[in-house]
Amino acid sequence: MAEYILQVKDLHFWYGEIHALKGISLNVEKNGVVSLLGANGAGKTTTLQYISGLIKGKHAGEIWYMGQRIDGKSAHTLSKIGIAQCIEGRRIFSQLSVRENLMMGAYLCRDNAKIKRNLEYVFTLFPRLLEREKQMGGTLSGGEQQMLAIARGLMSNPKIIMLDEPSLGLAPLIVNDIFDIIQEINREGVSVLLVEQNARKALSIADHACVLEQGRIVKQGTGSEIAADESIINAYLGAKK
Ligand code: ATP
Repeated sequence: MAEYILQVKDLHFWYGEIHALKGISLNVEKNGVVSLLGANGAGKTTTLQYISGLIKGKHAGEIWYMGQRIDGKSAHTLSKIGIAQCIEGRRIFSQLSVRENLMMGAYLCRDNAKIKRNLEYVFTLFPRLLEREKQMGGTLSGGEQQMLAIARGLMSNPKIIMLDEPSLGLAPLIVNDIFDIIQEINREGVSVLLVEQNARKALSIADHACVLEQGRIVKQGTGSEIAADESIINAYLGAKK
């Protein structure tokens, strides 16, 4: 039977009077990749932000992470137990160096040996960041900033990472690099919950995908099932397969 790292059960969320999530239920398998697809305003970002503890407000439903209930917990608490997010745009610190940005991702860790190991790991994963270790974050290219944001998320040694539109604004070749890295991170044992406008790319790496429409999941299945679904192809992938 599948073992889940994350389970979202009938999640509702309101921004004031706006009922943004209307009963989202989804599971992320241990070591799985789940992609959320859908048009603008469907509720993808809200789902990630609520799970990650970044937004508070009226809600209903439950979120479970490795056997414990986590809905309503702060991002800080969630980070300590292995949930990382890279979801507020790139939001790197432009006036800090690459290394300093990475250290911000390890701020909850008191174990220097572990921090050193994590730094070495992210520099192996992103050699370009090692080359630019002392450079200010703000001077990096868009793709490098995205890499830095993901690398910073990995500095807390997460078991699951949530990524919101990692390909946004990046050139196609860089998008390929970013997706290769997401797969590499996943191979290393980190589960992934991904929101991505580039549906074709997202589906190519997803074990499971959910399509959101107006705060509800209207379709879900394996990445290849969803990629082969005519209505999805027409709505999100363009007519050409
Ligand atoms: P996008 O790709 O545009 O980010 P999305 O699928 O991530 O879309 P959300 O950003 O989660 O969608 O938005 C879901 C709904 O909640 C939309 O109707 C949106 O207008 C509304 N919404 C999002 N953020 C807020 C906010 N801070 N205050 C009020 N309403 C919001």
